[in-house]
Amino acid sequence: MEKIFIFLIVITISVSNVDMLEHVETPYQGEYEKVSVGYFRIVHYCRCVRCTNSGNGITATGVEATEGVTVAADWNVLPPGTRIYLNGNIYTVQDRGGGVRGNMIDRYIGNFDHQRALRYGVFYAEVFKIIEFE
Ligand SMILES: [Zn+2]
Repeated sequence: MEKIFIFLIVITISVSNVDMLEHVETPYQGEYEKVSVGYFRIVHYCRCVRCTNSGNGITATGVEATEGVTVAADWNVLPPGTRIYLNGNIYTVQDRGGGVRGNMIDRYIGNFDHQRALRYGVFYAEVFKIIEFE
């Protein structure tokens, strides 16, 4: 199922590195190393029908979107299942979107609070791929 996200119109580009999203879940507790994959444009989406077609919260990988875990990415850049490190949290690529292309991360903000998703804004940040040690 191809989802088409309507991207947030944002007036402010964050100049600080303050990231308000609280950490919800650490998907991997073992040792890992981080490998930079460059600077990405970070945007946000919620479950509402403005952000997703369905509004049912089911990602393109079939799992339910979870705040603090779910991000959408260009699967040619970061394939589904890739774990990334962004501003101190670890997320998993579980979704994609029609407008998510190249060095771009669309971070899921829980449920239907579109205004809250808007408040997270758009910013640029270095993204790291998590390489887990077996
Ligand atoms: Zn929304």
